[in-house]
Amino acid sequence: MKLILLGPPGAGKGTQAQRLIESHGIPQLSTGDMLRAAVAAGTEVGRKAKAVMDAGQLVSDQIVNDIVSERIDQPDCANGYILDGYPRTLVQADAVEKMLAAKGQSLDHVIEMRVDDEILVARVAGRYTCAQCGAVYHDEHPKPKVEGTCDVCGSQSFKRRPDDNAETMRTRLWAYYKDTSPLIGYYHCKGLLKTVDGMQPIDEVSAAIEAILKG
Ligand code: ADP
Ligand code: ZN
Repeated sequence: MKLILLGPPGAGKGTQAQRLIESHGIPQLSTGDMLRAAVAAGTEVGRKAKAVMDAGQLVSDQIVNDIVSERIDQPDCANGYILDGYPRTLVQADAVEKMLAAKGQSLDHVIEMRVDDEILVARVAGRYTCAQCGAVYHDEHPKPKVEGTCDVCGSQSFKRRPDDNAETMRTRLWAYYKDTSPLIGYYHCKGLLKTVDGMQPIDEVSAAIEAILKG
């Protein structure tokens, strides 16, 4: 199963991807995570990407297309994958279509997660993740069941993204509405778009997504 989770920062894409990894055994391909890994590793791609990302802007299409194309060829993607945070522009969406066609693959679903702006800002400002497994938490809710310990892997080390603050969030939301939201129309035309209400509790959002995947 090959799907795209589409939505603004804070919509819950990472949270739902984490659950889909468990329920369907397919990997989450987060271009943000892949780019941050490249930045941490100090690769050439990472150096190019760092300055752009720190300002809350989008990295060039060429860089992300190359990263994703290589990743999809890995053996753990054989049964499918979740694209999270990619494609982010119409140019990237066209690149994905060509890339997948060249690999003899096609998308099954594009799931749009809809959440109001004020809620997005509050979610992103309180967000942190497990440094080991990437599980997503929030200062208010959802917190780990045992304070300071990851529910999923037991790690006690957490991290916050430098761009998760109200100031940068305005730039990121603007970029989403300007560059990414046109993909909603694009995938609607292709008959692939499904929309879920991302303001529901996490379990209900998961149930809505599972219902879509069952057809
Ligand atoms: P995205 O990957 O779309 O940027 P995340 O999955 O990282 O979004 O979620 C953003 C923040 O909102 C996180 O702190 C997460 O724990 C929280 N969150 C995610 N989904 C929900 C939800 N349905 N209700 C309340 N909080 C949520
Ligand atoms: Zn963890």
